[in-house]
Amino acid sequence: MSMKKVLVCGAGGFIGGHLVRKLKQEGAWVRGVDIKEHEFSSSQADEFILGDLTEQSVVRSVLDMRFDEIYQLAADMGGAGYIFTGENDANVMHNSASINLNILQQALKTGSKKIFYSSSACIYPSYNQTDPDNPKCSEDSAYPADPDSDYGWEKLFSERLYLAFGRNHGMNVKIARFHNIFGPEGTWTGGKEKAPAAICRKVAEAPDGGSIEVWGDGKQTRSFLYIDECLEGVSRLMASDLTGPFNIGSEEMVTLNQLAEMVIGISEKSIDIKNIPVPHTGVRGRNSDNRLIAEKLKWSPSKTLEEGLVKTYQWIAEQVSEQVPQTNKVAVVG
Ligand code: NAD
Repeated sequence: MSMKKVLVCGAGGFIGGHLVRKLKQEGAWVRGVDIKEHEFSSSQADEFILGDLTEQSVVRSVLDMRFDEIYQLAADMGGAGYIFTGENDANVMHNSASINLNILQQALKTGSKKIFYSSSACIYPSYNQTDPDNPKCSEDSAYPADPDSDYGWEKLFSERLYLAFGRNHGMNVKIARFHNIFGPEGTWTGGKEKAPAAICRKVAEAPDGGSIEVWGDGKQTRSFLYIDECLEGVSRLMASDLTGPFNIGSEEMVTLNQLAEMVIGISEKSIDIKNIPVPHTGVRGRNSDNRLIAEKLKWSPSKTLEEGLVKTYQWIAEQVSEQVPQTNKVAVVG
């Protein structure tokens, strides 16, 4: 039997990098593409192409044959400091939508029918996420739509685009809505990092007896899913005959201050939390609702948040000891 041919778009990113490694371990032939090299390790892909997927000509040359599977993870995105300020909205919408439009069109032309699209918990309506103790994020609650960012609106548009290509052109589309995925080899500094990485960095940088800043009152809730669990959920979706969208997240909801306390505990330092007011922290509460995916794909996370944080903290603490810190912010998006 010939090797499965797989294209990973966004292979230089956090989830893409881990996905390429997993696909290689499973014996696939992998072509990765990204506008940048992977920041933290050399890509395991058989071919890694540097290219801008907003350009149709690049997409034509990258997707120049039939792939058995395409994973479309490329997006212009970052944490709350990137998504919620409004300053990057035009880029986020234009770039990510262009990537999705280009890839779907070319996938269809080459007969590459099986395609995974990474959507986000950010598509869920803000009006269901005002109570930090009771956010509603079941898959069927996406409409009437009211995402709290243009990043979320683009994801929702693109979900519909993929579903339309499935309906009208027979594409075998798979959609997951990721909820705050974290782990080693994710962005941990520079402004695009998200809450778990930012908190790990700040705790690693703080001296024993010092303090860290957490954005907002720290009572906003979220859940966070370790990368390996996320990839297992994606595998199950790809192996199934279902389309989704499915939530892939954790139901272990914590406040941002609880997350910070957990990381401080792991560090074994004594550190105070200082909550600082900021204009943009995203919705008050968000949690994955895994009922549908548990029922249909028999998937739910197998480990606790703390277990994933231990591995992530260790990795970030190593990075911190090797590099000079750049920012002092904590952000959430998912
Ligand atoms: P990431 O930013 O590390 O990866 C995205 C990759 O896309 C980056 O390497 C980036 O360089 C690449 N990219 C951006 N514009 C490009 C372009 N024009 N051409 C080629 N490549 C381009 O993010 P990630 O955390 O690995 O997320 C992967 C996907 O999952 C994204 O689509 C993201 O929106 C989605 N998602 C992630 C999370 C999460 O918590 N990490 C949550 C919800 C959804």
